[in-house]
Amino acid sequence: MLNASLKELSKQLAEKKLSSVELTSFFLQRIKTLNPDYNAFITINEEMSLAQAINADKMLAVGEGGPLTGIPIAQKDIFCAKGWLTTCGSKMLSNFISPYDAGVIERFNLAGAVNIGKTNMDEFAMGSSNETSYYGIVKNPWDTKAVPGGSSGGAACAVAARLAPAATGTDTGGSIRQPAALCGISGIKPTYGLVSRYGMIAFASSLDQAGPMAKSAEDLALLLNVMVGFDARDSTSLQRAQEDYTSSLERPLSGLRIGLPKEYFAKGMSQDVENAIDKALAEYRKLGAETVEVVLPNAPLSIPVYYVLAPAEASSNLSRFDGVRYGYRAESYSGLADMYRKSRAEGFGPEVKRRILIGTYVLSHGYYDAYYIKAQKLRRLIAQDFAEAYRQCDVIMGPTTPTVAFNLGEKSADPIQMYLSDIYTSAANLTGMPAMSIPIGFGEKNRPVGLHIIGNYFKETQLLNIANQYQRVTDWHLKSAV
Ligand code: GLN
Repeated sequence: MLNASLKELSKQLAEKKLSSVELTSFFLQRIKTLNPDYNAFITINEEMSLAQAINADKMLAVGEGGPLTGIPIAQKDIFCAKGWLTTCGSKMLSNFISPYDAGVIERFNLAGAVNIGKTNMDEFAMGSSNETSYYGIVKNPWDTKAVPGGSSGGAACAVAARLAPAATGTDTGGSIRQPAALCGISGIKPTYGLVSRYGMIAFASSLDQAGPMAKSAEDLALLLNVMVGFDARDSTSLQRAQEDYTSSLERPLSGLRIGLPKEYFAKGMSQDVENAIDKALAEYRKLGAETVEVVLPNAPLSIPVYYVLAPAEASSNLSRFDGVRYGYRAESYSGLADMYRKSRAEGFGPEVKRRILIGTYVLSHGYYDAYYIKAQKLRRLIAQDFAEAYRQCDVIMGPTTPTVAFNLGEKSADPIQMYLSDIYTSAANLTGMPAMSIPIGFGEKNRPVGLHIIGNYFKETQLLNIANQYQRVTDWHLKSAV
């Protein structure tokens, strides 16, 4: 059960060799034993998980199961789930029991999947190390002195430590791909608009996108099949014909043109990461792909652009947390303004406050044109660079992160260093393009390295095919941290 793929688990469930109650109990037991070491989960609710498992077993008994029926999934604590504490990693929501399900949760419920618990994350998804969570740090199962990455650090840790067969994450600047890379698992951020943002607590709405995190590309495809779909309650949700993301997993790669951006292979990447990337690219050449150099002249500006736009949107989105309708309210205050001030001062952590301040600054009269508008223009230029590159290649590859997982505490005092963790990932959010990370080996201190694969809009099926072909001939994705 520990290392089985979703397909294998699904088969055993369908053939009644295993029940969902058994499978769910197995992972709940592992979480109980191991979560104190890793802190990957904020909330476990055995009763609710088992109730879903019982229900899944009923569906399976009458032959109504789908590929994910009865399978436990760890849900990032950014998704509202009815009856579950939903904190977004913040003291601000430390008392919030959601009265409704997010679009993503609804889709998993309909598929008969089991919510095995809510995973730890950076506060309001702001961070790259999981160290900003109100619920404490998460440890990297490969080396407990290292960060798991963030903001979906709990999700990545849960999959890598085999506390759950698969998990959900969200990615605003890299929060699915960066922790996936640092924890040696696979993760994909789909094209913006494919997965509903309804009930997914907003950080930067034009960048936020949910996606799956799992051991392999094949697992990701099965999860995406459930997650993707139009939702009228999300005004940026896309209406498209449903795709089967497993449909091209087996397609050979001969003739595939892989673009290697000059800017991503310049300085910045550490030697151990570069060595692993070189080996992975050699593997792709053996599989019949060719590599071509491309240029993305404006891509190095992604981090400055992101750190104007994301805080701007966050400052607006987070204004709803005012202590009035739900969430944390200061215990003592005098009058309304003081209640707002104290609730927000006490409810938000330092990184969230930093983002709100940056955001209100770049949106303020006098700075709006100099920062916000300029960043929007650069965002367009970055997208144009990618469009140009895709004339010469089918996909773009490079490192997911500049280094392997850093040590806990190593960057927490230096926000700029922390922000640079997303140097390769944030462009896909600014452009809205799909991108994924897969494990390709180990670097310094035996910590995992991830390969970043970026595709053109709606090329998820192709990305998963490219990742799966690599995983057919290598076994990095099968290596377990525990
Ligand atoms: N690390 C980036 C940030 O702190 C991205 C986070 C994310 O993708 N949610 O904003």
